[in-house]
Amino acid sequence: MNVPFAKPKFYGGEAEALAEVIASGWVSQGPRVQAFENAFAARVGAEHAIATTNCTTALHLALYASGVGPGDEVIVPSLSFIATANAVWQCGAEPVFADVDPLTYNLDPVATEHAITSRTKAIMPVHQIGLPADMDAFYAIGERHGVAIVEDAACAIGATYKGRPIGSLQSTACFSLHPRKVITTGEGGMITTNDGALADRLRKLRQHAMDLSDLARHNATDIVFESYPERGWNTRMTDMQAALGLCQLEALDEILAERDRQAARYNAAVESIPYLEAPYEPDYAVRTWQSYALRVSPRSPLDRTELMRRLLRDGVATRRGVMAIHHEKAYAGTNVLLPHTEAAAREVILLPLFPGLGDDAQDYVIERLGSHLLASAAA
Ligand SMILES: *Cc1c(COP(=O)(O)O)cnc(C)c1O
Repeated sequence: MNVPFAKPKFYGGEAEALAEVIASGWVSQGPRVQAFENAFAARVGAEHAIATTNCTTALHLALYASGVGPGDEVIVPSLSFIATANAVWQCGAEPVFADVDPLTYNLDPVATEHAITSRTKAIMPVHQIGLPADMDAFYAIGERHGVAIVEDAACAIGATYKGRPIGSLQSTACFSLHPRKVITTGEGGMITTNDGALADRLRKLRQHAMDLSDLARHNATDIVFESYPERGWNTRMTDMQAALGLCQLEALDEILAERDRQAARYNAAVESIPYLEAPYEPDYAVRTWQSYALRVSPRSPLDRTELMRRLLRDGVATRRGVMAIHHEKAYAGTNVLLPHTEAAAREVILLPLFPGLGDDAQDYVIERLGSHLLASAAA
C-alpha cells in the first residue's frame, strides 16, 4: 500500500466557480477576492481580512505595517518553517530565536521575555501546526516592553484560543492557503485585524501603496487618478484563487471534523505502541490538526529518522517534525542555546493526516508503526 503524506481535498463546485471567474473576464484581484475576504473575516470573527499571495508575504506586510525595519529585532521560534524568519529578514530586520515549550512546541513566553533587547520591535509567536500559542502571556509581554505582536497563524484557521477563534484576537494574524495547510487556494495568504486604519494601510501596501483599489477605479463614475503616498509591493491574490477559497471555506467545518477524527484514531492507537508520545492536549485551545506530530522517545532503539526510513520502505510517507531554522546554513552563525527546540527537531515525526485518507490506509500506517517499534523493543 502507498500512503501519501498529504493531499488537498475538493468538495465539489470548484471547477464551476473557476469557470465563472474566467467567463466574467475578471481574473486578477476583484470582486471574488473581496467576497472571500468578507467570508474569511466572518468565519474567524475578525473585523477585516486582507488577501495576499501567500502567508510569507502576509507576514512581511504585517511586520512592516507594525513598524519593523532595518536594525530592529523580532523574536520568533527557531522551531518553525523557515518562512517565519525569512519574513523578518524581508523587512531588513533580524530574527532572534527563543526556545519553545517542550509540550506544545509553541514559543515559550519566559524565554521570549529573556530575549528582549532595546532593539526588539515585535514578537511573532507561531501557532505550531495549528495549536494556538499562549497569546495572553505574549500580550502582557508586549505591553510591558512596548513591542508589537504579530501571529504566524499559517496552520491555524479554525483553531480557537480560550474559546475565541484565531484571527479574532487583538493582534494581526497571518494565515496560509498553501495545499499543505488546512484549506487551500493553491497559493495564498490572509491577514486579519480588528484595526480599521491598519487594514486600510495593508490593502494599499499590497498593491504598490496605491490609494485606489482596482475595484474602486472600475466602479468610478468620474475620471479618477490614483496616487502613491508611500512605497509598496504587489502581493495581490487573484479572483481565480478567491473562487477556490470560497469553496474551501464552505467545507472548513467538515475538514476540521475529519482531521479531528483521524487524530483521535491515532491517539487511541499509539497508547499501545512503545516509545511514542502522543500530542499534548492543552485545555486552553482547540487545534486544527494541520499535522499529527508524535514524539519518538530518545530511549527508543529505533530513532526517529530510522523509523521514517522504514516506513518509507513500507510505502508510508512521513515528514520530520517542524524544522529548526537555526540549524540551516541560511541562518548559520545564530549563536543560541535552544534545548527544547533541538530535542523536538530531533525526535518528532509527522504522520499522514488529511481529509481523504481512508481508515484502511490509516490502519496500515498504525500497523507498520507498531510493528517496527515493537520489533525494536523485543530485539
Ligand atoms: C507554511 C508556513 C508559512 C508559509 O506559508 P506560505 O503560504 O507557503 O508562504 C509560514 N509559517 C508557517 C508556520 C508555516 O507553516
